[in-house]
Amino acid sequence: MVSLLDFNENMSQVTGETTLLYKEIARNVEKTKKIKIIDFGIGQPDLPTFKRIRDAAKEALDQGFTFYTSAFGIDELREKIAQYLNTRYGADVRKEEVIVTPGAKPALFLVFILYINPGDEVILPDPSFYSYAEVVKLLGGKPIYTNLKWSKEGFSIDVDDLQSKISKRTKMIVFNNPHNPTGTLFSPNDVKKIVDISRDNKIILLSDEIYDNFVYEGKMRSTLEDSDWRDFLIYVNGFSKTFSMTGWRLGYIVAKREIIQKMGVLAANIYTAPTSFVQKAAVKAFDTFDEVNEMVKLFKKRRDVMYDQLIKVKGIEVSKPNGAFYMFPNAGKLLKISGLDVKSFAIRLIEEKGVVTIPGEVFPLNIGKEFLRLSFAVNEEVIREGVQKIREFAEQMMNSR
Ligand code: PMP
Repeated sequence: MVSLLDFNENMSQVTGETTLLYKEIARNVEKTKKIKIIDFGIGQPDLPTFKRIRDAAKEALDQGFTFYTSAFGIDELREKIAQYLNTRYGADVRKEEVIVTPGAKPALFLVFILYINPGDEVILPDPSFYSYAEVVKLLGGKPIYTNLKWSKEGFSIDVDDLQSKISKRTKMIVFNNPHNPTGTLFSPNDVKKIVDISRDNKIILLSDEIYDNFVYEGKMRSTLEDSDWRDFLIYVNGFSKTFSMTGWRLGYIVAKREIIQKMGVLAANIYTAPTSFVQKAAVKAFDTFDEVNEMVKLFKKRRDVMYDQLIKVKGIEVSKPNGAFYMFPNAGKLLKISGLDVKSFAIRLIEEKGVVTIPGEVFPLNIGKEFLRLSFAVNEEVIREGVQKIREFAEQMMNSR
């Protein structure tokens, strides 16, 4: 006998997007307490998708470009993606080495399904984007964590620790640069070391570089810059962040041709193809880098405002992130004083001040237990108002000792 609740056994270990839980709490607070909500929880740019992209989508619709495309995506877009990466990173990607996907998340999903057998180990940074570990567990794989090192200057990757986590079962290393949730831009030297570890140990390197245009200081080194990338790399990127296209759902994978062929088999079985007219619009996205650069300038200013305000909050230690659009302050002192764990702290902050932050433990293990993630993809006024409220909340806690 089968019950409707007899799920895939691995499902018991898999959780959904917990960030949404905090939004739900905020919605209730807004309704019942009539408190204004300030949302630092969001993981997306707040600007409308640039006009040229919107116009191209309308045009594609009006021209009847509404049918299935190839599972790999339209050639025109695959070509544009390859050209873009080649110009930007000096890579030599060919269009057959690109598959367009309905978002970077589905891209990551394809990569994990293609490779992970039950018992395979996947090395991930802790903290990291929550979805990597969940999908690995769904497939019966085992996430193995390497802790990022935290100091007042920010986070860094401990390459020796990463190396020490390699075992006979290690199949893949997942790397994400610039990094969600800490906003770290890893140094070119660290990127090179991670590439070397993958190459030398013959381990697949899955590199998620979806924030590669959100760089405020320092140099972004892509894993595509090594000329032998075909030997170890699966590269993932997308349109959500760079072109403010989160709702359009479009991403891509770059890997050597044989791998992309297999991805196409999976894609054809799972979702057939990415949305047709969205792909047409994305071709035009590559003409909007003036708008992208303006957005990044704006985000840099917002980062500075948030940082300047947040360093004034007693009990919180924060470093200035060089990339993405997240700040990941350490609230350890406040937690100790208040006796709250980070989750209850975040919930009380919503209930009492209407400010949504994401408790670090969502990402997903140990280090995050003292940290909160704040997105600065919101306007400056809101940043000032929200951080002021955090400051009041922190002072209340300090004073009630
Ligand atoms: N990777 C990282 C590191 C992300 O932060 C996100 C979005 N929050 C994604 C992938 C997924 O992006 P997409 O909207 O393209 O699915």
